[in-house]
Amino acid sequence: MGDLEVEWRDGGSGGALIDPFMAWYPSAPGFAAGSAILRSMPYDLKDRLVIGVASSAMFDLAESHAVFEREGEEKYRKFQEQHLNQPLPRGMAFSFVKRLLSLNDLSDDAEGNPLVEVVLLSQNDPDTGLRVMKSIAHYGIPMTRAIFMQGRSPYEFIPALNISLFLSANKKHVSEAIKLNFPAGQVLKSAIVDDEQDKDLRIAFDFDGVLADDEAEVVMHKTKDLQKFHEHEVKNVMQPHNPGPLQEFLIRISRIQSAEEDRRRVVPAYQNRLRVSIVTARNAPSHERAIKTLKSWGVTANDAFFLGGIEKAKVLAILKPHIFFDDQPVHLGPAASVVPSVHIPFGVKNEPQAEQMEDDGIEATSKGARTRRQKAPRRPRKSKS
Ligand SMILES: [Mg+2]
Repeated sequence: MGDLEVEWRDGGSGGALIDPFMAWYPSAPGFAAGSAILRSMPYDLKDRLVIGVASSAMFDLAESHAVFEREGEEKYRKFQEQHLNQPLPRGMAFSFVKRLLSLNDLSDDAEGNPLVEVVLLSQNDPDTGLRVMKSIAHYGIPMTRAIFMQGRSPYEFIPALNISLFLSANKKHVSEAIKLNFPAGQVLKSAIVDDEQDKDLRIAFDFDGVLADDEAEVVMHKTKDLQKFHEHEVKNVMQPHNPGPLQEFLIRISRIQSAEEDRRRVVPAYQNRLRVSIVTARNAPSHERAIKTLKSWGVTANDAFFLGGIEKAKVLAILKPHIFFDDQPVHLGPAASVVPSVHIPFGVKNEPQAEQMEDDGIEATSKGARTRRQKAPRRPRKSKS
């Protein structure tokens, strides 16, 4: 590890938790210059918005990955060592993470008590991960914690770190995390939205299979009848949907929006930076249950697009979110050509047969398409307020 000052918090599984802020910013407030500090107070993640990102989400690893695939691990190590001081190009989640962390200026104590914490979850060992950490420092991203698990995905640490969103480009890792009912998404090769002059953060969500579970998608999938889908949603309009994989993430985002409102009360000139949009294929009369569901969770969106068959990419190209989440590849393909897009491989639309049929451009039939029901993440239901 060279001369890095490392804070080890090994949970017995061989992983390392590192604080690069100490390592590369020894003069940062709160740290004595050049000293090695072992934290003595536990750092509580309970009330923060915690995001886990793989290096493949933060940076464009195409060149490094090609070396690994072509020449094997030893050459890959050498390649990273030789390019240690060459920052990695920005990846799909870079702009989202940077803007999310900038919202920590809403806290009275941004360093000691941040609203947002982003943890690097890497399958590199600490040595090969050095270039990633140096790249984070190069871009001035205040990510202070990282887990390195050589050759494994550290997604099993999601609950321990109270992570409400894990982003990775690795399809297998994300699918495995979702099967464990963890909130995970695969960043897709997409257009990047990152205008340096624009300080806002725009987040767009599909509703069914992302914020809510796939109950409604199952009805549509089984019946292939839009009328029956609407009847089901109207009949159950007073019954909120069960949470989907990103419900908790939205709730935590909503708390930051409340912090912005608090700031605006004190500083009337303050302009809100965080904007949440729902972009769903639902339309009337099924919109009402979605709105009532969000309300029952204590959250509201700034915008809602009930598109009823209009291509989502058309709206997204104008909305320009810094990240867009959807569970259906059929929407993500066009979306990724205009905005950074994330696949949440949850629910009926991601079961093997449905996925294959969608890839083939064939509408899946209800018979035999459902091999296994995925359950929504187990999380305590919020009291209605
Ligand atoms: Mg959906």
